Amino acid sequence: MDIEAQLTELRNELRIHNHNYYVLDRPTISDYEFDMKLKALQDLEAANPQFYDATSPTLRVGGGVTKNFDTVVHDHRMYSLDNSYSKEDLEDWEKRIQRGLGDVDVTFTCELKYDGASISLTYENGELIRAVTRGDGTQGDDVTTNVKTINSVPLRLKGDYPEKFDIRGEIVLPFEGFAKMNEERIANGEEPYMNPRNTASGSLKLQDSAITAQRPLDCLLYGIVGRNTGITSQWQMLEKAREWGFKVPSVAKHCKTVGEIMDFVAYWDVHRHELPYETDGVVIKVNDLQQQEELGFTSKSPRWAMAYKFKAEQATTVLREISYQVGRTGAITPVANLEPVLLAGTTVKRASLHNADQIAKFDIREGDTVFVEKGGEIIPKIVQVDFTRRPEGSKPTAYITHCPECDSELERTEGDAKHYCVNYYGCPPQITGRMQHYISRKAMDIEGMGSETVTLLFKEGLVTNYADFYELTKEQLMPLERMAEKSAANLVAGVAASVQIPFERVLFALGIRFVGETVAKKLARAYKNIDALSEATEEALVAVDEIGERIAKSVLEFFGNATNRAIIDRLKRHGVQFSISEEQLQHQTDKLKGRTIVVSGVFETIGRNELKKLIEDNGGKVGSSISSNTAYLVAGDKMGPSKRTKAEKLGVPIISEQEFLQMVN
Ligand code: AMP
Ligand code: ZN
Repeated sequence: MDIEAQLTELRNELRIHNHNYYVLDRPTISDYEFDMKLKALQDLEAANPQFYDATSPTLRVGGGVTKNFDTVVHDHRMYSLDNSYSKEDLEDWEKRIQRGLGDVDVTFTCELKYDGASISLTYENGELIRAVTRGDGTQGDDVTTNVKTINSVPLRLKGDYPEKFDIRGEIVLPFEGFAKMNEERIANGEEPYMNPRNTASGSLKLQDSAITAQRPLDCLLYGIVGRNTGITSQWQMLEKAREWGFKVPSVAKHCKTVGEIMDFVAYWDVHRHELPYETDGVVIKVNDLQQQEELGFTSKSPRWAMAYKFKAEQATTVLREISYQVGRTGAITPVANLEPVLLAGTTVKRASLHNADQIAKFDIREGDTVFVEKGGEIIPKIVQVDFTRRPEGSKPTAYITHCPECDSELERTEGDAKHYCVNYYGCPPQITGRMQHYISRKAMDIEGMGSETVTLLFKEGLVTNYADFYELTKEQLMPLERMAEKSAANLVAGVAASVQIPFERVLFALGIRFVGETVAKKLARAYKNIDALSEATEEALVAVDEIGERIAKSVLEFFGNATNRAIIDRLKRHGVQFSISEEQLQHQTDKLKGRTIVVSGVFETIGRNELKKLIEDNGGKVGSSISSNTAYLVAGDKMGPSKRTKAEKLGVPIISEQEFLQMVN
């Protein structure tokens, strides 16, 4: 088979698997097989750039960088929707429609209103050619490179699609993926994102599409615009879009009466909480497209569509007091302590206030009656103050200037919404926060010790940093509250056992800001031990794959501190792992030191990632393209011929998988 045919076949095959997995949620091959096929395609494409395809499944991994997003005028304006809040509102709307159309039968489609970032996708001859944000409705930003990384957006359509059309939809970030992203951010000592909607729209405007590609975004479509589409109703539109490969949620209903619409609303008002993504209402549309056209638009919205907003789950209560929490990194979070109130089935006593600006913006004061709402966030938030019920003589909230825990003056750097307590070593919640992070499951996973134990030990003056754990004795612990002989012994044993935890996790446990699990792994691999890492310069650090300036600076700051170095010395004396283990080192040699090796094709006995790991374990570097610096090209099956030609031309030795394995074993 010639290369072009091979490419086409592989691309088509991957398109089908992609659709099965991300749109239909019914994969037919394993993730591993999928990855292997994708890698094979990537290699084949890299070796044959003359057969570039702007709709190739490999574009999902991103990599394209956009410095400035171009402004694009929409061919068809992106309108807003009118809102309704009651059955009466809908009945009024129906009357207006009947008046507009005369005495004809009108039916409606109901869909959910997905809460994310609006997007308009343009397809020509079945290919995605452009993705534009809503912007002001008339013009938006060209975010095509980023949108191409979203797996449920088809890059090429199937079936009897029209030659040219726009399709509108909503880019959403499902709750689960959102929670995972936040978990990671918290572990890295970063601020969590506020809500899925803002994070979804922020993701579209990232300059590096490889980062967008890592976000678990989804794209839900609901409307086609264009001439000669052959479509006659909204209902048929949804079906057709599905047929052509778009992700169109199956939750939709064709209704004849306002009563039926209200049933749909009532059902989904409750059951929407079972959906994987956020919705904020129902959108009702006149089903017949001819009728839609007759009704037309007002200056801001279609007359043929109406949003019915779900009542955000809201309650009013009294804000008793604003208190301030200090996180492990010193970030200050204001918290509203409320008169307990029932909201969406749970009793709410606290709400997040985010930061000083937020408090000032809403003019939130102690003693105020406030509206609390539960949206996509886990913690409820205050959305409004009931000014009519503000007590007499109330004073504007004066944001704290000093740390509530240690009284040092707070700092706020420009462009950062948060205040920080920078008393790193003297501020109790920062001290305990670091120790709690150290013992946590993903870090040292110390058995017999939990967050409360850490707080207790700190209060009793037994520990002030994580090196102190290793000097605790059973005798010291036993007199403590709720400490029996057995639990004291368990704790000591748990601490002792933690010296087995591998270096990469120890590095994560140290709680260096921005050094999360993945970064810790990268650094451990690159430097092999803490001494080498602590001596690394900023230039050397940023040269490590995926380590940026921000992380490098934080690492330097950490090791530049004498207290930190002293703590590490103590941990060393207690036997904590500060280098890659013997076993790991055994697999690591210098056999390939200083050599860059390029891997291409598909291999028989070993996965590509394993192969790359072997190269790195043996001191080599994995190269992405062949140059005169390439030491070897490891050639697998289906390797691109242009890579071979280039290697031959430059005299780079081409070796087989077996030859490579012999070389390192
Ligand atoms: P609004 O911004 O409140 O005026 O609402 C209009 C927005 O709702 C549109 O920009 C759409 O992106 C969004 N939307 C979400 N789901 C739907 C849907 N099923 N039909 C139409 N618009 C929707
Ligand atoms: Zn403090």
